[in-house]
Parts: sequence; C-alpha cells; structure tokens
Amino acid sequence: MAVPKSKITNSRRGNRRSHDALVADNPNECPNCGELKRPHHVCGACGHYADREVVAVVEDIDIDEDAA
Ligand SMILES: [Zn+2]
Repeated sequence: MAVPKSKITNSRRGNRRSHDALVADNPNECPNCGELKRPHHVCGACGHYADREVVAVVEDIDIDEDAA
C-alpha cells in the first residue's frame, strides 16, 4: 500500500481544493416556451430544439391505481 511520505499541511490541502468548486451551469431561455434550459440540449419543458419539436411531450398521464 502506498504511504504518504509526509503530512499535507492545511495550507497545501486548501490550495489543492481551491480548484474543486462546482460551477453553476449557464441556462438559456427556450425560444419556444421561455423555460430555462441547458445549452445545446432539448428543452425539458416543451421538447423543442432549434425551433422544432423533437421530443413529444405528454401533457397528462392518467394512471388509475385502483384498476391495476
Ligand atoms: Zn421549451
């Protein structure tokens, strides 16, 4: 098993972790419905990409739990 030769100081550990922060993604407005969406991805709200519908969005799924 590899064993560290010496202790990593609080300072060195902090310096290493200074690059670990997560960056927020940069959402765009959907040109069809106005919802915020990820760039270069199909809109999750309306299924449109580049002004055309590529994924059909089902408005309401009627699930009757008693029937099953
Ligand atoms: Zn949309």
